[in-house]
Amino acid sequence: MSVLEKLSSADAIMLEDKHGAHNYHPLPVVLSRGEGVYVWDVEGKRYYDFLSAYSAVNQGHCHPKIINAMMEQAQTLTLTSRAFYNDQLGRYEEYVTNYFGFDKVLPMNTGAEAVETAIKLCRKWAYERKGIAEHEAKIIVCENNFHGRTTTIISFSNDENARKNFGPYTAGFIKIAYDDIEALENVLKTEKNIAGFLVEPIQGEAGVYVPAEGYLAKAKELCAANNVLFIADEVQTGIARTGKLLAVNHENVQPDILILGKALSGGAYPVSAVLANDEIMNVIKPGQHGSTFGGNPVAAAVAIAALEVVKEENLAENAEALGKLFREKMNEYIATSSIATLVRGKGLLNAVVINDTEDSSTAWDICMAMRDNGLLAKPTHGNIIRFAPPLVMNEEQILDCVSIITNTLKQFEK
Ligand SMILES: *Cc1c(COP(=O)(O)O)cnc(C)c1O
Repeated sequence: MSVLEKLSSADAIMLEDKHGAHNYHPLPVVLSRGEGVYVWDVEGKRYYDFLSAYSAVNQGHCHPKIINAMMEQAQTLTLTSRAFYNDQLGRYEEYVTNYFGFDKVLPMNTGAEAVETAIKLCRKWAYERKGIAEHEAKIIVCENNFHGRTTTIISFSNDENARKNFGPYTAGFIKIAYDDIEALENVLKTEKNIAGFLVEPIQGEAGVYVPAEGYLAKAKELCAANNVLFIADEVQTGIARTGKLLAVNHENVQPDILILGKALSGGAYPVSAVLANDEIMNVIKPGQHGSTFGGNPVAAAVAIAALEVVKEENLAENAEALGKLFREKMNEYIATSSIATLVRGKGLLNAVVINDTEDSSTAWDICMAMRDNGLLAKPTHGNIIRFAPPLVMNEEQILDCVSIITNTLKQFEK
């Protein structure tokens, strides 16, 4: 098939199926255009996007300010590598560190790379500042975590599908229950050589699990008392998604290491970052870590624009207000529903739990029906559907979406 021919949805799916690795199971819809809260398929049908590329498109599809910044920089200078300085990176580093309140940033590209960077940084700090004997440092992680797909990161996943037959695994991680402050207290008491605690402020991939109020603040306090670094993976929860700039801001927590990705670029370009203060970040010396594309001029220009949009358009406040409205309306429906059992979340990161077993196809079938009704969402862990639209949505649109979702659910009531 010629690459110049206009493809039908069926053709595009067939091509991916035949020539691409089968490492995803996409909803059968082929998108060719996006603007704000909407995407269009190749046949021209319009949908509300309720996944936002796993919260990478918080600022909405093809935000003109972000796209302009990207195009302008792409026509000027795209990549120098860090072998030389460029005129965009320093500007961005100043901007992003002021924005989040840290001394320094280490720029990378993807979320998984930023998590890897945080792990390396934490270990090096443990050996060179905390005085842990070499190779002995341990990092506490949580059950049902999702931090990415690299060999080290899947080593401490407990998702069998993500792990099986990818071993041998990287050592040095201790898994404890999520949202269990006693479990953290215990492990800090009984285990030696703890360097850090790596945590998602809300477990997004696991099914939007929001921890009890106070969990993050207490965890941070325990870490501080034990000279253990509190590492927040805000790749999915950060950048206004949960109704604050960062999900840890709900509990006034400042992490020792902050991991960002996804919406740091508004979904225009892969940009990730690790932020920390000097006493931590300064353990990394030239030659000890890096990435050819990390901190490139396009990434720097795009990230500044993406972060400016978040402030200029009050996306955190909007997510907070619309999230409340969404859960209120969904709760009204769920009160009389037998197919949907609960809605949970913060800001515009929400999930609805479907009254069926994890291995049933009901949630998938509901997502297919919502697709037919003009709204795209995907199940996570079988019977949970995540609802995470771009944060540039307005009230009229979210009410329209609530009626699409509830009308679809009605088709499945027994
Ligand atoms: C998506 C995600 C990652 C990984 O990001 P990639 O860009 O896909 O590598 C890491 N942590 C969390 C919490 C995520 O949601």
